[in-house]
This record gives sequence, structure tokens and C-alpha cells, in this order.
Amino acid sequence: MPSNDVLPDRELADIPWLLELTEQLPGVIFQLHRAPDGHLHFPYLAGRGTELNGLDWHDLSQNALPALERLAEPDYPRLMAVIERSARSGTPIATTFRLRLPGKRMSWIAVRAQPRRVDSGTLWVGLMIDISEQMLEEDRLRRLSDTDDLTGLANRRKLITRLDEELSLSNRHGLPLSLMMLDLDHFKSINDTWGHLQGDQVLRELASLSHGILREEDLMARLGGEEFAVLLPLTPESHCRQLAERLRERIAEHDFGVGHGQITISIGIAEHRVGDSREILMQRVDESLYAAKDSGRNRVMAGVCPPESHEGAPPR
Ligand code: GH3
Ligand code: MG
Ligand code: MG
Repeated sequence: MPSNDVLPDRELADIPWLLELTEQLPGVIFQLHRAPDGHLHFPYLAGRGTELNGLDWHDLSQNALPALERLAEPDYPRLMAVIERSARSGTPIATTFRLRLPGKRMSWIAVRAQPRRVDSGTLWVGLMIDISEQMLEEDRLRRLSDTDDLTGLANRRKLITRLDEELSLSNRHGLPLSLMMLDLDHFKSINDTWGHLQGDQVLRELASLSHGILREEDLMARLGGEEFAVLLPLTPESHCRQLAERLRERIAEHDFGVGHGQITISIGIAEHRVGDSREILMQRVDESLYAAKDSGRNRVMAGVCPPESHEGAPPR
């Protein structure tokens, strides 16, 4: 193999056992060449396992573009930037990307490649391997660790992650952001009367009812027990209050099968004040919830506003 340039196909063809070996690899080994004008091509490609259906590997030895055009939309500019950076700095490529396959399918590919300068530009030697199954499994585990078992809603962990993201956006751009915390009223007596299993069913039904009222971009999470939170991006307190009232009414009207009007919720709301921390927002919304409980339950309260007028059931 020449020490400082592209591997000619002919040399490999002279070693049939090596050719047979590389063609059976459960991945792809390659040379990628970048000319000073930016033109990319694969002087050498071998192996299988990375589906490149419909692509002529001989064409790729002249021009890498048909393969690069198969990249998923956001991955194309990112991978090009990775290649450019690697060429400039001489550091290896180590990244993943998605490749579009026929029939709207996608493959996740991991690539590792070592660059070196050659007379005619930059030459990488590397390998690619299909990691779609591993990515699916990671996705499944991520979903599992973000989800509340009983209701299928997000769990506290997921809420905190998303809240931190939204808080940072709100602080940076001054965007409105509200948080709701809701808690079932006298839920202990529902369990005591109807049993824990029926109580669980109420929690599930409440989750799906609420989910139907919220917008796509809102995030409802079960914080634990019979306490839930709703994160409302781009929402000022006045809109959050309207939504909370709708939610409260909807729950109070619904027949959960445990005696009509027996299930009500109290809701505390707060709008984020730019510069405040997550802890402060959560403390304010928690105080609002306790104020709603203290002033009779089945109502919506915001910390800084006077009590919401309501038509709910009298305190029990
Ligand atoms: P309050 O109006 O003050 O909120 O009264 P409460 O009875 O709802 O509140 P408390 O904190 O005294 O009791 C909460 C109850 O929620 C106790 C427990 O039996 C019930 N609970 C917590 N988690 C679950 C759950 O996963 N399933 C069921 N069925 N019940 C739960
Ligand atoms: Mg409760
Ligand atoms: Mg509670």
C-alpha cells in the first residue's frame, strides 16, 4: 500500500483472499479524499452492513456527493463541518449521522476516520458501522427513564430537564413561561373508599383528560403521588390561568366512576420572572397550590393575585 497516497483498486484485486475478507465485513472501510478545492471522493470502499441501496460504489470513487446527498437534512451541514474541521486540524472524525434509505427508512451510522495530509489534499482512512439497533434501544431506554409508569406522562426528571431548557430560553429572549402545579383534593379518602386500584384508574383518567386539553408544546408530568405539573412555554400568566380554570372545570365535571363530583383538583400557577431560578419558580407555584388548598380546594390560585372566583364544590 503506498505510504502517502490513495490506494489503487488494482492492488487489492491482486489479493483475492483480502478482497473476500473486506467484502464480508459487517461495516464499511473506506478512504475518503478531499482535494484542495473541496471535491470529495471515496478512492476505496469495501464491506457490507451499511446499506447504500441504489448507490453505485464505482461512482462514489469519482464523487462522494451521491452518498452525502443521502444524509438526513440536519446531518449534511454538520458532517461537512466535521470533515472540514478534521482536514484543517488533522484531528480524527468521530461522529454519527443518519442516512436516508429507500421507503422513508433511516439508518444511524457511526463513523471513525483518521486524516492525513497527502500531496493531493487530505486523505482519511476510516470505518463506518450501522448502529441503528443500538440507537433504537437507547431511545427506548431514554423514553422509559423519562416516563411515569402509571400514567404514561413525563416524570419529574423529564419535567426538570425541559423546564431548565425553557427557563434558559425565557431568560435569554424574555419569552413568557408559566408553570402549573395541580393536586387531587382529598384523594386519600377516594383510596380509602374505593380502593387503591380504583384510585390508580382515576390518576390515569385524569392524565388522559388533561392531556386532551393541553397544547402539543405543553408538557404535563406526574411529580409523584397525586401531584402533577404542567409546563407552558410562551404562555403568560393570564393564559395559564384560563387553561387552569378549563382544566379544573373539566375534571370536576367528569364522571370518574367514584361518585359524581367527587374528584376535584386544586391548581397553583406562576409565571416565570426573568432572572429567577428554577427553584424560585417551583417554590412560587408550590405556594400558589397551597394557597388554593388553604382557601377551600377545587380552585386556581396565582401567588401574586387575589383568589380566583370559582363555582367549585365547598371545602370538605
Ligand atoms: P389534599 O386535598 O390535602 O391534597 O388531600 P389528599 O388526601 O389528596 O392528600 P394527602 O397528601 O393526605 O394524601 C395523598 C394520597 O394520595 C395518599 C395516597 O393514598 C394517595 N396516592 C399517592 N400516590 C398514589 C398512587 O400512585 N395511587 C393511588 N391510588 N393513590 C396514591
Ligand atoms: Mg391531594
Ligand atoms: Mg399531594
